[in-house]
Formats: sequence, structure tokens, C-alpha cells
Amino acid sequence: MPTPPLPATYFDGLQARPHPVTLDIADGALHIHGDGIARSVPLHGVRWPERTRHGMRVTHLADGGELHCADSAAWDRWYLYHGQSESLVVRLQQSWRGVLASLLAMVALLVAVQQWGLPLAAQASLLVLPQSVDVTLGDTTLLAVDQDMMRPSQLPRAEQARVQAAFAQAVAHLPPASVPDWQLVFRASHIGPNALALPGGTIIMTDEMVYLVGRDTDVLTAVLAHELGHVQHRDGVRMLVQVTLLGTVGSLVLGDFSTLLAGTTALLGQADYSCEAEHAADVAAVQLLQAARIDPATMVTLFDKLAEARKAKHADTSEHWLGIAFASHPNDAERVRFFQQAGKGH
Ligand SMILES: [Zn+2]
Repeated sequence: MPTPPLPATYFDGLQARPHPVTLDIADGALHIHGDGIARSVPLHGVRWPERTRHGMRVTHLADGGELHCADSAAWDRWYLYHGQSESLVVRLQQSWRGVLASLLAMVALLVAVQQWGLPLAAQASLLVLPQSVDVTLGDTTLLAVDQDMMRPSQLPRAEQARVQAAFAQAVAHLPPASVPDWQLVFRASHIGPNALALPGGTIIMTDEMVYLVGRDTDVLTAVLAHELGHVQHRDGVRMLVQVTLLGTVGSLVLGDFSTLLAGTTALLGQADYSCEAEHAADVAAVQLLQAARIDPATMVTLFDKLAEARKAKHADTSEHWLGIAFASHPNDAERVRFFQQAGKGH
């Protein structure tokens, strides 16, 4: 459901004259409309206001222009609808330990980038970022995902419980120390049969995935095992750290914390995991499946089903949207061979 444009007051930065305008965000830009005014400002040129409890919201534009909105509640609703990630920043700001940890991590990151480059720098910053940051990131991402692209699950409770119980039972075969915190949630979505892991251990499985697989719960366990591998390796956080890195450096230099992690969902949407991360998650999946005495080759049947579904439904553009989700991963010959080989040792 689209929100109506937000009424605000625009100052052009040259004259003190206020212009009544309406604001809208679309296609990566802030659109300002008023009498004789039609401006579109790329979002990276916009310095959003910090969210305080009361008072006027003042947004600064790169060219010196300003937007004022006296109705802070209306602003917050409008901005949360479009911005989502602000709630993360606000929450981090509310917890100053979180801020400190993040700043420490970012400083470590800066030094590390200079020394070793991007992937190793991300690795280094993961050592500094406490697990609590993963959880905050994950919660915020789930909120944003729910607003943008998912609806409540239509799966019967009993069906959800069945999948959940089967996976929990499989995980119980692993040494407890090697199992990260995880939580399985179901959602209806337009990304088709899919699954993805968020930072902090929340794994989303779409209803369509359950429908696609049917009663063969082992296959769903295999998908979840792969996603748990991503959780284990903190791939979600690593990826967010890597893709926000450049923005982060800029934010640090400018001392503007609020842009630090802004745009999380958009970044999540554009990002992919590396081939190494995918393979590592597959290795973790095989380990879990073997421990639970489930044939790893069961994963191959899923690759086939997904390929069929893709053919039947035509390439869904939203799959590009979510590169980190299961069905977006390449199921190339090498990957198929990997699970088949693991199956032989079974
Ligand atoms: Zn994956």
C-alpha cells in the first residue's frame, strides 16, 4: 500500500522564503513537488534528520536546501515506510554500547581495509562486532523485508510445526557448541520457492518452498541446513559490512552516524554471497545431513524442482532482487556433483 506524499516546507538554500511542497521517495530519489518546484534528489545526497522524540524534522540537501516538517509523527510514519533502516540506527543510538561497538568495528575496519583490502577487512570487523549487533541487524532486516516483500504465512500451523520439528531434530545431531542460535519463520512472498538467512540467525522459508517440496521434509531440512551454514559463518553480517564499507568510510569522515547503516534492505537486495561462502554453506549442510543420517543427494532433487518451477514461471525478476536467497544461488553442475558425491559416502 503506497503512502500519500508527505506535506513539508522547502527552503532552497538561497532565500529564506518557505515553499509548501510534498515529498515522495521512489527509484532511489527524493522527489520534491510544489508550486513551480519539481526536484529529484538522489538519496545519497540527502542527510536525513536524526529521529528524536519530539520536534521539527529538518532534512539537509547537498546543495544547501532544507526540508522542514513540523508534524514529526507524520514524518516518522512516512520515513519508516520508505526508509525502514532508520529504526536500526535509532535502536543502535539508543544503546550506546551498540554505538561504541559499531564505532570500534568501523575503526578496525578502516585500518584493516588499508592493510588487507575488503574481504579480510570484513573478516576483521566481524571479530570486533559483537553477536548482539547481528541480532539487531537481523530484527531490523526482518521488519524491512516484511514491509517490502513478504506477507504473513498462509501455511497451516501444523505444517509449520512439522518442518520446524524435523529440522530441530536434525540439528540435535550436531555438537551443541557448533550450532548458532537460529529461529525459523515462514512467510508468503513474491520471491517464489525460497529461503534465506538473516543476520542473527532468523531463517525465512517461503510457503511456496514448502508447497514445491510437498511431504519430503528431508529436502526442506537440507535447505535449512544450507541456511544454517550461512548463520554459522555470519555471512549476512559479513556481506552487509562489505557492501556498506564505502558508505561507512564516508560517514566516519563526515561524522554522520545516521547514514552509517542506512539502506540496509536495498543493499541486502543487491548483494550476493561469494562462491566461497556458498560452498562453505553447502559443506555445513552436508555435515548436518550426514550427522542426521539424511542422504545429502536429496538436495539434488530440490535443484531439479527449482529449475522446473523457474521454467514454468519464467524468470522471476524478483529473484535478482534477492541474491542471497537460496533459489538465486547457482545450482551448477559442480554443486550438483558435490551433493551427489557426499550422498555416495552416505
Ligand atoms: Zn546460500
